[in-house]
Amino acid sequence: MKKIAILGSTGSIGTQTVDILPSIDAEVVALTTNRRINLLEEQARALHPKMVCAMDESAAKELKIKLADTDIEVLTGMDGLIACAAESGADIVVTAVVGMVGLLPTMAAIKAGKDIALANKETLVCAGGLVMSAAKQYGVRILPVDSEHSAIFQCVQAANGNPIDKILLTASGGPFFGKKIEEMRGMTREQALAHPNWSMGAKITIDSATMMNKGLELIEAMWLYDLPPEDIEIVVHRESIVHSAVEFADGAVIAQLGLPDMRLPIQLALTWPQRVPCKVPRMSLAEVAKLTFYAPDYEAFPALNLAKHAASLKGDRGAVLNGANEAAVGLFLNGKIGFTDIAERVAYALDTIPYKKDITLDDVLAADKAAREIVLG
Ligand code: NAD
Ligand code: MG
Repeated sequence: MKKIAILGSTGSIGTQTVDILPSIDAEVVALTTNRRINLLEEQARALHPKMVCAMDESAAKELKIKLADTDIEVLTGMDGLIACAAESGADIVVTAVVGMVGLLPTMAAIKAGKDIALANKETLVCAGGLVMSAAKQYGVRILPVDSEHSAIFQCVQAANGNPIDKILLTASGGPFFGKKIEEMRGMTREQALAHPNWSMGAKITIDSATMMNKGLELIEAMWLYDLPPEDIEIVVHRESIVHSAVEFADGAVIAQLGLPDMRLPIQLALTWPQRVPCKVPRMSLAEVAKLTFYAPDYEAFPALNLAKHAASLKGDRGAVLNGANEAAVGLFLNGKIGFTDIAERVAYALDTIPYKKDITLDDVLAADKAAREIVLG
């Protein structure tokens, strides 16, 4: 039986992870939240983990009172998150927290020899080089949960030792597909939060609307599959049925298809190399009937070029891009800036903060902090 720690168990990916647990042979050893303690209590009573963590200190105090009749250890803060990742006795850690807050716990888990089911893409965007080399050094697997990267992982199984020529990274295009940048200027929080195909947390939903999500995913793919950004082509595919594809030297393209439902990639990351029956309904190609593909509009979605630029420079650019984006998305969600200001603020941070090529984990944290400060003003 696999022992699983779920960081961010109360979010969109976290709750879907809990939902597929009965399909797999697993025992949960740790659960965490920021401050959704009612749901965390419910999950803890159902799953009996060894430890839980509420990042927020006052939420953790309340949670401790709620769970006083159990022997579950209640932790808080970054130390608590790290303990849940590295000291809970997990074999595999699902990183389903949102944002670069996932970086230190992921690194701690890798150093403790835990496999990672990685949903938290911001970790790879900020510090992909450091994370991948630590994973190699400690002999752990980074199993992608992000649907596109799970698709690429599955396609790569067909390589049989041959190199990948190119990745075709599919994008839904988000709620503002087909719009020009001028039309997007006045878009509201509600309009940006209305994603056509996926129901996800607020931050990633806004990232899908700006298409920064696809930029972050390009960087994520670059690190996971060790390919230069030029060999990753973004293709808009409105139906979200082809989750991504890989092209080989002879031009053959292998793709993975399925209904847009995160429970399949989550489950596969936890059961790999086995495949077991999954709750997700089966796809009927005849019902899907039509698949469409378009080149992205780089003028309307400048975030894509910002991410490509950061990808080609590497160094601290991923951390600056991500930190600025997290801060700008936060401002937009709080009604402080307009929709198109998000990419403008990220561009300003990338222009203003001096570039550093060779980086340590401390440089990543410093770049993240500097980027947030510039955006928040
Ligand atoms: P979400 O907002 O629904 O959930 C985030 C989780 O992290 C919650 O449990 C929350 O309590 C916790 N959290 C939030 N802020 C925190 C903090 N400062 N410290 C500690 N914990 C904190 O987000 P989500 O949509 O589930 O996304 C999680 C991650 O998975 C993101 O990195 C996202 O890009 C990635 N991802 C999500 C989807 C999806 O379908 N939702 C798909 C692919 C990748
Ligand atoms: Mg994705």
